[in-house]
Amino acid sequence: MKRTRRAFVCLGLALLLLTCAAAAQKVHEEYTKKIREATTDPAFTTKYVNFLPAAAGIPSPLEVLGHIAGAPDILSYSADVYKYFRALAQASPRVRLFTVGKTEEGRDWVVAAVSDEKTVRDLDAYKSVTARLADPRTLTDAEAQALIKRGKIFYWATGGMHSSETGSVEMLMELAYRLAVDESPFIRTIRENAIVLITPILEPDGRDKYVDVAMAPRKDPKTTITNRLLWWGKYVAHDNNRDNIGLGLALSRNIMKVALDYHPQVMHDLHESASHLYISTGGGPYNAWLDPIVIDEWHQLAYQEVDGMTREGVPGVWTHAYYDGWAPNYAFYAANGHNAIGRFYETQGAGDAATRVTSASGDRQWYRPNPPLKQFVWSMRDNVNIQQSALLIGMNYVAANKDRYLENFYLKGKRSVAKARAEGPAAYVVPGGDPRPGQSAGLLRLLQAQGVEIHRADKAFKIGETEYPAGSYVVRMDQPYSRMADMLLDRQYFNINDPSPYDDVGWTLGPLFNVKTVRIEDPAVLSAPMTLVKGPVQAPGGLVRPAAGSIAAWLINNGAENALATLRFEAKGLKIAAAEKAFEAGGRKFNAGSFIIKAAENPADTDKWLDEAGRRLGLPVIGAAAVPDVPVHEAALPRIAVMHTWQNTQNEGWLRIALDANGIPYDYISVHAVRDNAALRGKYDVILFGPSSPDALSIVAGVGGDKPAAWKKTPITPNLGTEDATDDLRGGLEFEGVIHLRDFIKSGGLFVTLGNSSALPLQFGLAGGMSVKPTRALWARGGVFKAEVTDKTSPLVYGYDDTLGVYFSQAPVIGFGSGMGGGYPMPGTQATGRPSGRGAASDADVVQGRPKDMGQKSLEEFRKAQKDAPPAEGPRGGGAAAGPRPRTIIRFAGSAADLLISGGLAGGEELAGTPALIDAPLGEGHTILFAFNPAWRHETQGSYALLFNALLNYKNLGPAPASAPASK
Ligand SMILES: [Zn+2]
Repeated sequence: MKRTRRAFVCLGLALLLLTCAAAAQKVHEEYTKKIREATTDPAFTTKYVNFLPAAAGIPSPLEVLGHIAGAPDILSYSADVYKYFRALAQASPRVRLFTVGKTEEGRDWVVAAVSDEKTVRDLDAYKSVTARLADPRTLTDAEAQALIKRGKIFYWATGGMHSSETGSVEMLMELAYRLAVDESPFIRTIRENAIVLITPILEPDGRDKYVDVAMAPRKDPKTTITNRLLWWGKYVAHDNNRDNIGLGLALSRNIMKVALDYHPQVMHDLHESASHLYISTGGGPYNAWLDPIVIDEWHQLAYQEVDGMTREGVPGVWTHAYYDGWAPNYAFYAANGHNAIGRFYETQGAGDAATRVTSASGDRQWYRPNPPLKQFVWSMRDNVNIQQSALLIGMNYVAANKDRYLENFYLKGKRSVAKARAEGPAAYVVPGGDPRPGQSAGLLRLLQAQGVEIHRADKAFKIGETEYPAGSYVVRMDQPYSRMADMLLDRQYFNINDPSPYDDVGWTLGPLFNVKTVRIEDPAVLSAPMTLVKGPVQAPGGLVRPAAGSIAAWLINNGAENALATLRFEAKGLKIAAAEKAFEAGGRKFNAGSFIIKAAENPADTDKWLDEAGRRLGLPVIGAAAVPDVPVHEAALPRIAVMHTWQNTQNEGWLRIALDANGIPYDYISVHAVRDNAALRGKYDVILFGPSSPDALSIVAGVGGDKPAAWKKTPITPNLGTEDATDDLRGGLEFEGVIHLRDFIKSGGLFVTLGNSSALPLQFGLAGGMSVKPTRALWARGGVFKAEVTDKTSPLVYGYDDTLGVYFSQAPVIGFGSGMGGGYPMPGTQATGRPSGRGAASDADVVQGRPKDMGQKSLEEFRKAQKDAPPAEGPRGGGAAAGPRPRTIIRFAGSAADLLISGGLAGGEELAGTPALIDAPLGEGHTILFAFNPAWRHETQGSYALLFNALLNYKNLGPAPASAPASK
């Protein structure tokens, strides 16, 4: 207590002194008074932020918004935050504001630049200095040194990524003001050597929804608006910062635009979920594709701030641990992957801006010698104080050492260019003659969006014994952003004995896009004749006329390319058939599932339309003089619904991205809509249920509570209800909903479940004879696994090869039979590893008194038969539903040794050979269950066609009639 009082006295004295030194700069008295009132304890402030300087004619947040940054019980909407930044930019020649783009819901997405007047005036010149340093191929070291001397550091601070982490948005307004007006040497150092970029809100859609939810009970104590933040952005919630690989979200694309336009040397993302301030470095394993220099820089900066804050007497500021530093899916990899420094804070959360007693966890550790307080009063202003102070310390340090960090930026770029001939590889090649040119173009466009250059071979070239045809694409590793390309295209190996990973451990994009990529170490590849692709890589497409005669039909191959479904849904007026078997026409081969569009059945302008659409979508349209003689069925245009729960909408958001990105229309409905509609079949043909919960009962039971909980637009919540709305989100699918789904399927509907949502049909009788298999030893966290097509007659795998790479994370593992035990290990069984017994950990167990290979012979024969003669085995007895058996269309690779493509794996025997994609007929319809997730973070674009095949062929999912007896 004594310490507290004395500190406040000191604070007062400091204020007096500053006031006395008014000749230097006046203090904003009213603002400063409010800062002090809102700070709960001197432990939670520093000399850097316990006052605000005044500047004539420059408004602080108090003048524009009527409150200070971090005022209790106040959260600012994005419009207010932008209003403040506009006012500041208008008043101060040291600040400019740029609109970079829009959000999915149409809000502005901005970046502000703050520096001294002259620098801000010459911003473009400074941008071009760092742009030149970013590409060392065009510079001598002497030229680079001159640029380093002339250049300034771009330090980019970003807030408001996670909508429930609210303090950064308020803080960044004050930071911009302070940087613009404070004349102290400490701040002048930043202004003179750095250009501070500020994006106050990375996810403005989610910010406004959160402010609605948090402020509603303050505006109307009787409000029924729920305090659950169901949607943040349009698509995803908390995982919105894990999209830097797939770039599926507008915010990720906007971030990349700023990263490639300004080349910030530091990107610093502000989060709020640790006590009191965690500064990123991580505990490893660190991403193995980064230059070690960047990892050293993480530590240098983190320790500057830990030290600076500790010297100020702030407890609980620490680094190391918390996360690993392995996956490049984080937003700040827009910096790490581009020779800059990506980092983040986790400050004690400000949440709904209420001041309350808070407790923290986190004991004294080697990496945290000064642990957080156990219990304390915490306010929004405390959060603003702490993150602003540390950020200023970091910015000041980097600014004071700007030559060194600019030189490192240049050096890392240089080492990235040298990579091709030093550590390698020299290049990745996407060989010409690719069966899926549209998929490979999509993958290469994604790399281009990451700033990676793509070349195209002018002639065939040979590396070792392999010849690559002209037209092969080459991703050279002697370019500045080679490391980003390498970490996305290479395979990952994660040792499962490392600390538990924070997120995915494998993400290799070749297999996930169903595109062959070849890693080449021989630098000879760099000398192959090739040309830089200017503009986005585009697959060839458009109409190819027959050598002679008029066109009887247009043919489009099904190569499991996403564009095929896009074309089908665009061509609403066309009658299109899908071939049920492979065929040849005009010397070309067409896979089963290829489109046959008869001239006689379609309008006269079809020719012209298909040519245009084929060019735009990268699909060759082959004009044939005769209609191929092959059995067909209609390529359907189903009425689609995507079902969401009222518990969580995050992971199904990636499914909506897959559909939206490919132009596939759907209704977005809740479990309540299914519960309340006994005639679903009248409205929909296909219902998709994205990943939700592995606990099927929780989907049925839904949200509890004793009062109505609404999610809707009201005068005090104008930002809610955009995606879906309800007066009361309590309750789930209910048993009525299960029955409605069953009736929907039985009357010819298709129900598709992704990943853990497959527990619902398994446990509620919509896919009889199978169950979720308990696993005891399996370690298969988010990675890429090999899967094998076991039933080539199914339309689901039209266009696919025999194997593919799929994203899978730990569960569900599906098995035939009733699955006794439901996932609970038997008493006494070990969670991991082999049973205790003879030999070493890697040896097989030996049971005494029986042959080692007991049962193996029949198992192998059975598996072989299963592979050779689909359809696969089905359930027997055990209460299985009457009717046709479920068919395994794809299974996980049959041998544990083959299973892992990228990531980590142990106990793979439990996953090997299990069903990965199942077609379970029921009545006139089907349930399709994915054990893996075909729609994950826009990274799994090679699995999308499995879903799209299901949509276009929903009425004809049985095996092709001539290949096997129909299953009905
Ligand atoms: Zn966060």
